Amino acid sequence: MTASAPAPAGSTFPDTPDDLFERLADTYRDFHRHPELSLQEHRTARRVAELLRPLGFEVTEHVGGTGVVGLLRRGEGPVVMLRADLDALPVEEKTGLPYASTARATDAEGRDTPVMHACGHDVHIACLLGAAEILARPETRWTGTLLLVFQPAEELARGARAMVDDGLFTRFATPDVVLGQHVVPAPAGTIAYGSGPIMAATDSADVVLHGRGGHGSRPESTVDPVLMAAHVVTRLQGIVSREIPAAEAAVLTVGRLQSGTKDNIIPDRAELGVNIRSYTPGTRATLRDAIERVVRAEAEAGAAPRPPEITWTIAAPATVNDPAATKATVAALTAHFGRDRVMEQPPITASEDVGVFGQACGAPTVFWFIGGLDPDEFADAVSRDSVASLPTNHSPHFAPVVEPTLRTGVQALVVAATAWLAGTSPTGSDAPS
Ligand code: ZN
Ligand code: ZN
Repeated sequence: MTASAPAPAGSTFPDTPDDLFERLADTYRDFHRHPELSLQEHRTARRVAELLRPLGFEVTEHVGGTGVVGLLRRGEGPVVMLRADLDALPVEEKTGLPYASTARATDAEGRDTPVMHACGHDVHIACLLGAAEILARPETRWTGTLLLVFQPAEELARGARAMVDDGLFTRFATPDVVLGQHVVPAPAGTIAYGSGPIMAATDSADVVLHGRGGHGSRPESTVDPVLMAAHVVTRLQGIVSREIPAAEAAVLTVGRLQSGTKDNIIPDRAELGVNIRSYTPGTRATLRDAIERVVRAEAEAGAAPRPPEITWTIAAPATVNDPAATKATVAALTAHFGRDRVMEQPPITASEDVGVFGQACGAPTVFWFIGGLDPDEFADAVSRDSVASLPTNHSPHFAPVVEPTLRTGVQALVVAATAWLAGTSPTGSDAPS
């Protein structure tokens, strides 16, 4: 904490006297053209490190695999963590953009797959690099420590945990606040936020049911895992409707069901992939326990020769914005952008692993959303009542407009960071408003 008052947030953007945003657009398009799958973000990480070093950051690569950490210390004051994610998705890009990805890669199962920044993590990288450049300028006044975290494997909900386990908070710095953002299908230039739980926890389970294979004409000599799996799928749907209070939000999806090879062969196993979303630890535990109970009970009911295997593969906590920290950060964002560009929104059932950081270091998290769609196209969709048909994250058609998306994302990070860094923690009574 320092005694000096923060510079008004707007003053950190002296009308971009140089070509920062033009250079940043090129940087963004380069990342967009060269997407990499989760845990394979080698080129991306190298580029991030190359761009960060000349700005004066102490840069460390290979943190938690392909994670990159940038540190900038300016005397006493709060430690502010800004986070971006590096990975892309196995999606074939169909945006038709001149800088569309034609990249391909080999996935973890050894399959050749197209790759695309379909979730917009390239926007996050570019925005954080742009914010880093502004924050590193001598004329941007602040004291404290900036901890920039470029994490791998967000799409597997593994990268944040990997960086924490690799000593992120012991080797570098322990944040007083964790700040981050995600681009979404809303009008570019706008910011949306929530207080409390804003994104759901996600958990995935791989389930293997065992049967006894044989001839389809003689089921009495077999134990049919297909019938068992069918009962499991149906029975699982009773968990949300019968075991979760109506006022609690929860989702249970069986997204994968595989068994057998031929119509007259009863196979000896069936596999299911189950995913759940929840907002509270209690609901999350209820869902997980009930899934295990139903799977075991149906296997027993079906006379399975051995118990089923249930492996939890993906787990990320709900993203919970600290109410006081959010209020203060949103006040700074609103002061900069104006009320018509910063709006509140209800929780969404998408998930993120950004919450792992705050949970691990005990600092409040403030995570917000920036729009990425052409504002005119969005307004047109609103007038035709077809907003739901606009391409969303993970769509092969998801194509954030470069501006004003990048400018908004960069400014949001700088405004939020300086609100905290200046030394007068915005949760205090001398908060900037
Ligand atoms: Zn995603
Ligand atoms: Zn994402």
